[in-house]
Amino acid sequence: AAKNPGEKEFLQAVLEFAEVIVPFVEEHPVYKKAKILERMVEPERVVIFRVPWLDDKGEIQVNRGFRIQMNSAIGPYKGGLRFHPSVNLSILKFLAFEQVFKNSLTTLPLGGGKGGSDFDPKGKSDNEVMKFCQSFMTELCRHIGQFTDVPAGDIGVGAREIGFLFGQYKKVTNEFTGVLTGKSLNYGGSLIRPEATGYGCVYFSDEALRHHGHEIAGKTAVVSGSGNVAQFTTEKLIELGAKVVTVSDSSGFVYDKAGIDAEKLDFIKDLKNVRRGRIKEYADKFKAEFHESKTPWGIKCDIAYPCATQNELDEDDSKTLVKNGVIGVFEGANMPTTPEAMHFLRQKGVLFSPGKASNAGGVGTSGLEMAQNSQRLSWTRDEVDYRLKIIMKSIHENCVNHGAGSKIVDYVKGANIAGFRKVADAMLQQGVV
Ligand code: NDP
Repeated sequence: AAKNPGEKEFLQAVLEFAEVIVPFVEEHPVYKKAKILERMVEPERVVIFRVPWLDDKGEIQVNRGFRIQMNSAIGPYKGGLRFHPSVNLSILKFLAFEQVFKNSLTTLPLGGGKGGSDFDPKGKSDNEVMKFCQSFMTELCRHIGQFTDVPAGDIGVGAREIGFLFGQYKKVTNEFTGVLTGKSLNYGGSLIRPEATGYGCVYFSDEALRHHGHEIAGKTAVVSGSGNVAQFTTEKLIELGAKVVTVSDSSGFVYDKAGIDAEKLDFIKDLKNVRRGRIKEYADKFKAEFHESKTPWGIKCDIAYPCATQNELDEDDSKTLVKNGVIGVFEGANMPTTPEAMHFLRQKGVLFSPGKASNAGGVGTSGLEMAQNSQRLSWTRDEVDYRLKIIMKSIHENCVNHGAGSKIVDYVKGANIAGFRKVADAMLQQGVV
């Protein structure tokens, strides 16, 4: 803590990880002797830079850009860019740290990183977003590359932003390479990448539920968020026969007792991806309840998918979920559950999967996008979806292998140990670098 003052989220992520890994390292002195854990919590490199740009009125705006290159033991740094006013060093270091173990779990050769800016795309014109992205990439391009560091999207960075960033990278470097993932299909993107995090999360929960004698069909599901992850989590849940009754955004949540169907989901996609409006419009259009400034965890459900942001599900929420009979909580977002809530859920025997396991399908499919770019080929939708399923299945198996308990699988333990081992062994083999 003394070394990282004020880095609340980063310390939270490290502490959660250490709870599982410190006892494991004690049992395996080879990691202790090589100070693997001490090395892992120190980023290999952090870049912080100024991002000046001109808004539509011709006024100068200044934002701060970041890239955290956390660990490259098993592959080039890989992890998303987040554009949100709350972005700071602590949040990005926590995300980069989680990314290292998540990427390790995917079975693919991907190191861990994360980056972004405190730029807020909300209320900005396309032209302003482009100006910002160009300025951001003019500096970032010195630090990334297809064999060094391959960023992707995250909160506030979707297909539009990736397009502007890619265009500027190509212009400055005079190279067409797979330096970013989450690209549009016509210039090197992969089919299924937009869907991958949400679909993967549901595939993982399907494995976990079936492993414990349940199934998704017929279950009532509560989803938070209404962005990329929430939309495709909802889509796959509907396809597999669950009834999804909530979605949310930073202004509140919608409770649709009748359940969200494919047509209503199309409305959400248009509202959020094209018109960039507020989720209340859904409630007005489909006569659903809107609960301002609230999260959806009070709604009775069998399975819950927090898919918005960090620390959005606290201890009180976890108590309400348990009281209402929840069977499983599967993180689509990164660290959406507070440590207290996580402890309570696990203690009560709720199946709980941490984001580094259940949301790894996004980066996994980004890895598949990199493979296609290297081959100069595009795989079919079915092929990518099939590989995504295999990745999620193998992450689940890995969690079972390292986290099997007497009654239920401890996914937190399983994911952390499995993710740690692969990176730690590579670091041992590569010496003190
Ligand atoms: P989007 O920007 O597409 O959507 C984010 C959603 O969360 C929006 O509904 C947004 O509401 C809501 N939200 C954001 N911040 C807050 C907040 N402070 N309080 C309440 N709601 C908030 O992002 P993604 O769907 O891509 O990402 C969601 C989560 O999933 C993040 O934790 C991300 O790190 C994680 N993730 C994403 C992956 C991906 O492939 N996209 C991969 C793995 C993890 P509003 O519309 O009001 O802003």
